Amino acid sequence: MTAPYGIIGWPLGHSKSPLLHNWGLRTSGLPGKYEAWPTEPKKLKAFMAEVRARRIKGVSVTIPHKQAVMPYLDGVTERAGRVGAVNTLFWAEGKLLGDNTDVAGITVPLEPYKESLKSALVLGAGGAARAACAALLELGVGEICVANRTAAKAQALAKDFGITAVEWEGRAARPWSLLINTTPLGMKGEHQAKSPWPADGFGAVGLVFDLVYNPVRTVLLNDAKNAGVEVLSGLQMFMQQGLAQFKIWTGVDLDEKGARQLLMMDLLATGG
Ligand code: NAP
Repeated sequence: MTAPYGIIGWPLGHSKSPLLHNWGLRTSGLPGKYEAWPTEPKKLKAFMAEVRARRIKGVSVTIPHKQAVMPYLDGVTERAGRVGAVNTLFWAEGKLLGDNTDVAGITVPLEPYKESLKSALVLGAGGAARAACAALLELGVGEICVANRTAAKAQALAKDFGITAVEWEGRAARPWSLLINTTPLGMKGEHQAKSPWPADGFGAVGLVFDLVYNPVRTVLLNDAKNAGVEVLSGLQMFMQQGLAQFKIWTGVDLDEKGARQLLMMDLLATGG
């Protein structure tokens, strides 16, 4: 068996990770195959035993396993520890470790804007919001706030990261250098026509980063663009977290332009 890689999650229907990583293996001339391993929570323990028994080289971890896999590992990176969740399993010196490349998925696209980010509002308080808060702290954003439909969750997250919770209802009442949407509002399916931000509320917003990537142009990003605000798409996060995983597993830096083209063409072909 040559270098197996794959992704676990439940359900896994829409994952673009196999497309990206198999393209990476092919274009780098590396052996191995990246598979989709839909894994129910009750089968996680058996799956993790298999990772060790088969020495599976790299695993991407998605919902709902990002925290649940942690007790099965020999350790986690400092970054994953800060987020409290892992999305990448890898081997180092015989140990099975966990990292969190979702953070790089957010820091890398924001890096060019770093100097202008005086204040940021994270919308939502789930797993992706934790990665967003860790990323904003790494970037050194002066004022970081979180707003969530369920206020108690925003308050708990704010406490964990030493940031400020603001009321969901009052979220558009003041200026923000950056908005990051980590809710599923705008995502293909039941939420596609929705936005977490009022269409007439972009007057005092500098930059909008929507972590939703399917579709690439969400209602939030369309509204922001129509208001003349700069935008970043979740496709950039998806691509960067995947490129960072590939680098951890193989040491190879994949071509960003090629990766972006691959993902855009696939999303367009599948109605994204
Ligand atoms: P999660 O842990 O389930 O958290 C979802 C958050 O969204 C919760 O805070 C929830 O609020 C809020 N929310 C859900 N429905 C809402 C609604 N109708 N109105 C207002 N708020 C609502 O999910 P997650 O893991 O953080 O993922 C969230 C999204 O991030 C995903 O849908 C995905 O699109 C995106 N994501 C993108 C990437 C990427 O690579 N681009 C990677 C990871 C995630 P409550 O607390 O009130 O329930």
